[in-house]
Amino acid sequence: MPAPSTIAADAVVSIHYTLTLNDGAVVDSSQGGEPLDYLHGHGNLVPGLEQQLAGHAVGEQLQAVVPPGDGYGERDPEGVQTVPRDAFPGDMEIESGMQFQAEGEDGEPTMLVITAVEGDQVTVDLNHPLAGETLNFEIVVEAIREATAEELQHGHVHGPHGHAH
Ligand code: ZN
Repeated sequence: MPAPSTIAADAVVSIHYTLTLNDGAVVDSSQGGEPLDYLHGHGNLVPGLEQQLAGHAVGEQLQAVVPPGDGYGERDPEGVQTVPRDAFPGDMEIESGMQFQAEGEDGEPTMLVITAVEGDQVTVDLNHPLAGETLNFEIVVEAIREATAEELQHGHVHGPHGHAH
């Protein structure tokens, strides 16, 4: 089977990317390291980026602007909550800016950021750190290949730059 020439569902795609926010802050980049391998059409990337990558060929560069709704979602004001200090382990140091993983209401792990500590009141933000942000991706398509049957079954890429079991 020939390798797919453009990005389509079930292709394994290698990209170099740089993610910048509207204020110019660079959040993440693969430049200077290994490209990112992902399985197209399986939700490995945020939906807005996958949509804009479709149809592109190896060697192409593109800029993908992804609004929050197609990225990490809008910020949910109800995600900001104030909890008593004694909701945390007593020996734990609590400081504004701290991030840690907690268990969500449905038992799945969720990231939590402490945004303020006032007396015995701690304000936490359960929103994804990139919620509400427009994501500006600079992409270079490095390679495209067909996924193996096992990769399709797992829904992610195997191999040197992919998922390790
Ligand atoms: Zn796997």
